[in-house]
Order: sequence, then C-alpha cells, then structure tokens
Amino acid sequence: MDRIALFWFRRDLRLHDNHGLYQALKSGLPVLPLFIFDTTLLSQLPDRVDARVGFIHQTLSYIKKQLEVHGSSLLIRTGIPVEIFKKIIREYPVGEVYTNHDYEPYALERDNRVADLLNQHNIAFHTFKDQLIFEKNEILKDDGTPYTVFTPYSKKWIRTFKESSLPTYPSEKLFSRLTRTEPLRNIKLEEIGFKPSQMPIPETQPDRELIKNYDKNRNFPGFRSTTRLGIHLRFGTISLRRLIRTASKLNATFLNELIWREFYMAILWHFPHVVDQPFKPAYANINWRNNEKEFKKWCLGQTGYPIVDAGMRELNATGFMHNRARMITASFLTKHLLIDWRWGEQYFADKLLDYELSSNNGGWQWASGSGCDAAPYFRIFNPWLQTKKFDPDLKYIRKWIPEFNTPDYPQPIVEHSGARERALQAYKKALDASKT
Ligand code: FAD
Repeated sequence: MDRIALFWFRRDLRLHDNHGLYQALKSGLPVLPLFIFDTTLLSQLPDRVDARVGFIHQTLSYIKKQLEVHGSSLLIRTGIPVEIFKKIIREYPVGEVYTNHDYEPYALERDNRVADLLNQHNIAFHTFKDQLIFEKNEILKDDGTPYTVFTPYSKKWIRTFKESSLPTYPSEKLFSRLTRTEPLRNIKLEEIGFKPSQMPIPETQPDRELIKNYDKNRNFPGFRSTTRLGIHLRFGTISLRRLIRTASKLNATFLNELIWREFYMAILWHFPHVVDQPFKPAYANINWRNNEKEFKKWCLGQTGYPIVDAGMRELNATGFMHNRARMITASFLTKHLLIDWRWGEQYFADKLLDYELSSNNGGWQWASGSGCDAAPYFRIFNPWLQTKKFDPDLKYIRKWIPEFNTPDYPQPIVEHSGARERALQAYKKALDASKT
C-alpha cells in the first residue's frame, strides 16, 4: 500500500472549512480521517448517559456516511491516543499525521506524547489553528505580555482582525484526495460504555434574526435570546470563521461575546494555574463554608430563590443555562452560600452541553471574584433585583418552577442581606490575611 496521511479529528467535527483537514488533503498523500474515543476523557464523565458523547457519536456517524459517499471512510478507534497510534502505525503505512490545535493542558500533554511517538518513527506531525481566530501569542500587549483584562484585549483583537483577512480552508472541495476504502467499522455507543440520551441538541445553523437583535435581547432568559451555538463551537460542528464573518456584519455585541471566548482561551493558555487555583492568588485563602446539604439544594434548584432555582432546573433538564442565569447561580453559590467555586465549576462541567474548560473556569472565577476582572469582590448580585431587571414578567421562573408561589416551593435557604454580609466578611478576612 502507498503511504497515506492521517487526519485526526478532535474538536473540529466537520468536513467543511476545516483547516487541518484541508492541509492534509493538500499534502499529496491520500488522506484517511481518524477519530479516537479517548478513554482517559470518557472515564472522567460521571454519567453513562451523556448527551455530549451521544452528540459526538452521532456526528461521527454522519461524517462517516459523507466520507463513504466519496468512496472513503472514517477510522474510529477507542483507547488512549498514544497507544492507538502505536497500533495504527503498525497497520497502515502512515507517512504524515495532520490535526488541529487543541489548547487545554490535558490536550497539550496528549499531543506531546503522540508527537514524540510519531517522531521516533519519522512520521511528521502537523498541527493547525482552527478553533480560534487568534491563538497563543497572537494578541499580546505592546510589551509582549498577555492581557489580563478583557476590554483592552478585545480592542487589540478587533484592531488585529480588521488589519488581517479571514482565511478559508475549503476542505469540502478536495474529497477526491481521500483514501479509497471500503466502509470501515462503526463503533456503537454501547461499545464505549454509554447509552443514548434523549436531550435535544440545538440547531447548528445560526439564526440571523436572533443575532441581529442580540444586543437588545440577550440578557433576558425568559425567551430565546441567544444562539445556543455553544455546543457546536465546542465540538467544531460549526466553522468559527464563518460564524465570525456573520457576527462581524450583523452585531457587534455578539462578536464581543465570541471575543470573550477567545479571551478565556488565552487566559488558560498563559495562566494554566487557573485550572484549579484562583487567577488572583490572594483569593486562595477564603474560608469556604462548603455545606454539602446546601450544595445539594443548589444543584437541584431548591434554594428558595426562584431565579437561582430556575437556572439550575433549566441546566438539569436541558444541559443549557442562559448566561444571565449562569452568572446569578454562580454568584449565589460562591457568595450567598460561600461554597468553593470549584464545586460549582465541576457541576457545570458535568452538565453543560457547551462545557468548555476555559469559559467555564473564566465564568466561575469571575463570579467568585478571583478571576481576571477589574470588578471588586464586593459586587454581589442581589437575586431579587436581578429578577426584577431580567425576568420582570417571571416568564423564566414560571417555566422552570411550576410550583412557584405555592406551599410546595421551599423557603429561601439563606436571607439575602445576612448572607451578603457574611460573604463580605469572609472575603475581606482572606484578602487582609494575604497582605500580611
Ligand atoms: P450566545 O450568547 O449566543 O453566544 C455565542 C457564543 O459566544 C457562545 O456559544 C460562546 O461560545 C461564546 N460566548 C458567549 N458568551 C460568552 C462568555 N461570557 N464567555 C465566553 N464565551 C462566551 N460558555 C461556554 O461556552 N462553555 C461553558 O462551559 C461556560 N460556562 C460558563 C459558566 C459561568 C459561571 C458563566 C457565567 C458563563 C459560562 N459560559 C460558558 C459563558 C456563556 O454563559 C455561554 O457561552 C453562553 O451562555 C452559551 O449560550 P449560547 O451558545 O446561546 O451563547
């Protein structure tokens, strides 16, 4: 058999405008696409019914079918990536491997191990930027250091964006360069230890009208005011470059949110300690109460604060929570209940369809006050005022809490002003201690 190039799919599960796939197809070698169900990651998921795994599985089946229409197929394997590569390079005459950049600490370690292995066998490993517009060191301050505050970062991002042109990578036009093969074996969801989930996955197509009105509506959780594209950006089932092109024409506020996504990725890249430590070290000393019963009530949406409970119930039922509710529920957990932000972060990670380490971590650190944000810790959301402002007709609350305003609905778990005072004192004590 002649030498082939492998294209390794990870969080870029699409055949169109896929940078790494495009480069592989242009390499001159016939390309065999590959996906590995990484057992290291799968074993960390708490539930065997996980809509995200189901979504990946379904998307792969779709991609496989599309490739088979073009006389090729998709190689799907399950295991630890470096071990899988050891086997594949014994089975196939692999000349080169192509993939797209992945920036999380675990992914970097995984890719280093694979790169070392391939290097030992004289197989080139090529990686490309795909899930971001600007990555790593592309947006830095003039003195070459990373930004730690969003507004100046976003200004530099926009300036750089205007000065450069957005590339396209029409991988979908080069399918004749795929390897010719009989359909390869598909892997059933059960074989990787999971069961199908009934949770619906949001549409892949961006809603143009919604994006046009995004700035006016986005803060109101009671109706469909945001795109729900998070899961598609997470798994690359949508091309970020195409979305950014639309966003930059239709709505500056929407574009700004996509820049937040890149900002948090940059923070994680430059400050990987944020994975399990506060961005600002002084916040490491907070004496969290960490009451497990209260945490459970928060998880279940039983705190007696309707806007908090509506958010948590939306999350539990759909795998989605509106951004405004994410901010309120996270603030409530860390401030009103004084529970460690890492507990909440983990709960969101387990439940969110659009879970993204960088944005979730950034959102939680922001809410707990320890993040890269100019706002002081004493800005504590008042859930009642938040309700008045953002759910004035109680549409969101009524949707998720059918027993609202009946005796079946619990009394507030804590009293707002007392809890606020308690949080202020705990934060002040920790910050004062860090000064001495
Ligand atoms: P839209 O409002 O339609 O925005 C489009 C896309 O822009 C989003 O899908 C997302 O990729 C990006 N985006 C929007 N807002 C933000 C933001 N504030 N920060 C970073 N990116 C943003 N976002 C995640 O993608 N994954 C997470 O795990 C995550 N966890 C969060 C946890 C907390 C505590 C908070 C406060 C926010 C979190 N966010 C997270 C950010 C934001 O809430 C979601 O991106 C947004 O609600 C997803 O809904 P959407 O797809 O309808 O977004």
